[in-house]
Amino acid sequence: MPDTLPVVLTYHSQNIGSHTAADNDHVALREDLEALHQAGIRIVPLSRVVDWLDGPSADEGAMVCLSFDDGCDFDFRDLEWPGVGVQRSMLGILQDFRSRHGASAQPGLHATTFVIASPEARSVIDRGSLFGRDWIRDDWWSAAIASGLISVGNHGWDHNHPDLPEETGPRGGFKTISNRALCESQVVRAARYIEATAGEWPELFAYPFGESSEYIRDVFFPEFTSLHGCRAAFGTEPGPVTRSSNRWNLPRYVCGRDWSSPEELISLIRA
Ligand SMILES: [Zn+2]
Repeated sequence: MPDTLPVVLTYHSQNIGSHTAADNDHVALREDLEALHQAGIRIVPLSRVVDWLDGPSADEGAMVCLSFDDGCDFDFRDLEWPGVGVQRSMLGILQDFRSRHGASAQPGLHATTFVIASPEARSVIDRGSLFGRDWIRDDWWSAAIASGLISVGNHGWDHNHPDLPEETGPRGGFKTISNRALCESQVVRAARYIEATAGEWPELFAYPFGESSEYIRDVFFPEFTSLHGCRAAFGTEPGPVTRSSNRWNLPRYVCGRDWSSPEELISLIRA
């Protein structure tokens, strides 16, 4: 039945245009949580979708997993976005939901935040794509995990971000991360840093910009599991996760691109 397939949602805490769900991912998350709950849809940790892929015994029924990309401080801290005002953090929004409804309402409430590992890259991206206020820090990663509501996933060493200088090849995405050395440097080096800083080895990976090379999908991730220690990797092709989905390029819906209101989200999931 199509309505029993797991769905993974992606939010970006730096998507803040004004105060509506259509252009503010904080407002969207708050409203989406209420709508999902009212619709009787279970929210579960992202790792549960991988358990589901591993065996039919794990979980059945409509389930939705939450993910946040890029690991901006807005995931964890209430901060004032210039011109728009103070934004409740994504973690705070999960905690507020808990306070309103109680822990038994959505016992699996949880999100995975996919962070960029390299401090230098975060600093460059912070200056180039945010406001240069040091808003992509890593000092909150372990506290986020300790909250019990967030896991820290791997979004690559430096996102191969276009704001960075070219060193090993063209910048802009992961289509060019197409040999073992580049994959190790983006995935394994990042995982080591995340483990050292957050206290946990990241078992889930999300491709920057949702893009991946054939090599990383078809060779590196499937063949070097003991090296990278990952259970699954996520892209951003829209769609539910199915039993035939590629575990190294699992689909995700992106807030703002694939839905712009809680009503649209619910019909997307029910489609
Ligand atoms: Zn990203």
